[in-house]
Amino acid sequence: MIAIYPGSFDPITLGHIDIIERGCNLFEKVIVAVLRNPSKTSLFTIEQRLNQIRHSTEHLLNVEVASFDGLAVNYAKMQQAKVLIRGLRVLSDFEKELQMAHTNKTLSPEIETVFLATSNEYSFLSSSVVKEIAIFGGSVDHLVPQHIAIDIYKCYDKTQPKPILNQR
Ligand code: ADP
Repeated sequence: MIAIYPGSFDPITLGHIDIIERGCNLFEKVIVAVLRNPSKTSLFTIEQRLNQIRHSTEHLLNVEVASFDGLAVNYAKMQQAKVLIRGLRVLSDFEKELQMAHTNKTLSPEIETVFLATSNEYSFLSSSVVKEIAIFGGSVDHLVPQHIAIDIYKCYDKTQPKPILNQR
């Protein structure tokens, strides 16, 4: 069975990678799908994020990395995937994610959303937390793979704590 793991991944964190690794143990193939969302400002371009994810999942044999436009359920159908994987950290995730899962069910009843609970050590971790730490000059070495930490540090001018933001 093929599963899609959709998200922004701006950037991918150790929490996302943990979900991908566990998804790979459950499904034949996991497609990590980066949403192309022109209305959202991001730190990294789609191409940078795709490269970061590819590099971070090199150790996994049944992962594919791609980007998509529009609805995740439509992309899932196109890829013949039956499952959308989403991660759950805290109660606030649950509310938003459940609403999204129900909405997706009304759009495509044949596609199931499977929730994977975060591993304890990553329950506080999000892409936004990583960016907030980096913007104030803190270390993110323990939150993202080393090659991504380097990419993040390059984005922030230490003397002027302002991110270089990309549209898309
Ligand atoms: P989105 O903008 O779609 O929420 P994200 O890249 O922020 O995209 O997250 C993608 C998915 O990964 C979401 O389901 C989110 O809840 C989940 N996720 C993010 N961080 C973690 C984490 N530390 N542990 C488990 N799941 C996570």
